[in-house]
Amino acid sequence: MSDAPHNPIQTMVLNVLAKRGDFVPSSPELATEVEEHLCDALSPIAEHYSTSNPLWITKHALSTVHGCEAHHVASRDSFAWTIASVRGTVAHKAIEILINTRTPRSPGEYVDDALDRIVASERGTASDFIASLSPADQADLRSQVVDLVTKYEDSFPKLEMRWRPVVESNAKVELFGGAVVMSTRADLVIGAPGSKVIIDIKSSRIMASYREDLRFYSLVETLRSRQSPRLTATFSLETQRIDAEDVSLSTLSVAVHRLVQGAQLLHELDQEKRAPSRRSGSTCYWCPLAATCNEGQEFLTGDRDA
Ligand code: SF4
Repeated sequence: MSDAPHNPIQTMVLNVLAKRGDFVPSSPELATEVEEHLCDALSPIAEHYSTSNPLWITKHALSTVHGCEAHHVASRDSFAWTIASVRGTVAHKAIEILINTRTPRSPGEYVDDALDRIVASERGTASDFIASLSPADQADLRSQVVDLVTKYEDSFPKLEMRWRPVVESNAKVELFGGAVVMSTRADLVIGAPGSKVIIDIKSSRIMASYREDLRFYSLVETLRSRQSPRLTATFSLETQRIDAEDVSLSTLSVAVHRLVQGAQLLHELDQEKRAPSRRSGSTCYWCPLAATCNEGQEFLTGDRDA
């Protein structure tokens, strides 16, 4: 931890993340109550799945199925890297290295380390896509990520080891003997059990749907550890701002409701019981169906003309 004082943005972020004096950790009964409520609602869906064929629920699955079902099905069956998506992956790896490095280095060095590690990783991941880029596109990618990592260093408070920071923290909960699996990977978790703060780091600006994503993370953490996190937050590298929400019975109940609705949609689409619906929105910008989708073209063309 550097002794250098925090700058105004770091101080603002620190104040948002700070534990309030009147904070009270959740009781173990809360996790039981939430789990019972969730299992009651999920039971009719869970009976269609088994340990060997589970319903797998992730942040990505929930956000895409609640967004545009056609996009969800298209991206479920095939995934194509883009400069925008790989930019976030490299930025997260570089920030992971930055947080865990004892000797401070420059943002460009963290990014070079991240690129080297990703390119050396297993085939079939982002490594193939980065390797396929022209030297000019690779330089452009590096430049964009250096900008994001510099913004992170300039705006996120230095993490003290006593805050127990963990990057890329996985959590998994199995229900109905493994027939339903909920899985998360948080970008950054800080704090002690019962007072954890779960933080998503985004390369984009903050969007309303990010709170929904983090409520799902809180739900999984509550069921896994039997203690609710204290706070969830989205930190935008683009705008260098943070959006936080206290975790409460109310936010967990909203998460349960959205999860059950999403599980029903995932089940219907898995079973091919009906054609997926289409809903245009910002997802159209990176949707693989955009070129042939009327709804998507209307949205994209209208947006450009606006
Ligand atoms: S282009 Fe937009 S509306 Fe069409 S399938 Fe993709 S996300 Fe849905």
